Amino acid sequence: MQPFVYEALPTRVVFGAGTVARLGAEAERLGVRRALVLSTPGRGEAQAREVAASLGDLAVGVHAGAVMHTPVEATEKALQVVGELAADAVVAVGGGSTTGLGKAIALRTDLPQIVLPTTYAGSEMTPILGETRDGVKTTQRTPKVMPEVVLYDVDLTLGLPPSVAATSGMNAMAHAVEALYSKDRNPVTSLVAEEGIRSLARALPGIAADPQDREARAGALYGAWLCGTCLGAVGMALHHKLCHALGGAFDLPHAETHTIVLPHAVAYNASAAPDAMERVARILGTTDAAQGLYELAGRLGAKRALRDIGMPADGIGQAVSAAMAAPYWNPRPIEEDGLRDLLTRAWNGDPPRAWRA
Ligand code: NAD
Repeated sequence: MQPFVYEALPTRVVFGAGTVARLGAEAERLGVRRALVLSTPGRGEAQAREVAASLGDLAVGVHAGAVMHTPVEATEKALQVVGELAADAVVAVGGGSTTGLGKAIALRTDLPQIVLPTTYAGSEMTPILGETRDGVKTTQRTPKVMPEVVLYDVDLTLGLPPSVAATSGMNAMAHAVEALYSKDRNPVTSLVAEEGIRSLARALPGIAADPQDREARAGALYGAWLCGTCLGAVGMALHHKLCHALGGAFDLPHAETHTIVLPHAVAYNASAAPDAMERVARILGTTDAAQGLYELAGRLGAKRALRDIGMPADGIGQAVSAAMAAPYWNPRPIEEDGLRDLLTRAWNGDPPRAWRA
């Protein structure tokens, strides 16, 4: 066995159905008296208001100002509200965008965070914060942004439309798939990754078939938690770097981009990560991990072409250049021709390249 380093992150996790009822007790446990509840605008805000109402006097207001990719302007506005209301904690109710705002506030104020995730993005389990300034997204890793408590309540996810659940779930799987061939993987994260992929692969078709299937919703949320811990624990590779670059350059939707790119990034890395491929393929009940992921996305009705989510055709060259210009670790060296082939297939929505001779 290879030697390894395993560092457990300190977040307290409460998982179940109806767990939002425990929010007040969790806030009191942290000594919170004046929580500011965060969300995205629109539907997310209505949910956040219900959560704030359940907190009673412990909540001082709702700020529905979270925006995808955590622009610093949105954080500055939120900080102003934190100051005006003298909030002593943030409660983030929503997906990765809302969690990101809570983390950005915690980074600057050290306020405690309680997160109630409503998508499968997994940000609540990571010490990672991506922020956008003048259209440029930069990412940092610091324990200061780790939430104190994550309260998973399956009931909060029942309204997540099946189409969003599908891509959000594939986004979660991407964390675990890359964790299986990560440079700093270890036996514990690999176990967690496999269980996360297994749980999501079983749950997502169940949600597509019946959006009110609570067992399937619970399985997806459980899998998302596990996959999020993988993202927090070990370094990612080509897939995450590519999605980050594509999202930033062409303003593509986060989870959809991950869903489309994942099978192709996996095919690219397959020959250099045979053990990870075998594990993923076995879980998906297939012999080719990349093909299995592509077919799963198809079964879930997810879009499989970057051109269908707003990437221009002439963006492929730009993305290849950006990926080549910023070197990073990957199990297989980053080669220009291979990348162009990967992105062309992903842009067209073609199946991933077969890797076995
Ligand atoms: P999101 O938070 O923007 O949510 C997607 C959409 O779903 C939004 O319109 C939201 O209002 C809606 N929604 C969320 N929950 C819902 C519910 N229960 N019912 C109905 N609608 C609901 O997107 P996301 O994919 O969850 O997160 C993406 C963001 O998170 C990106 O900015 C990404 O960079 C970041 N992220 C960060 C990390 C990290 O570790 N730092 C990890 C993953 C994602």
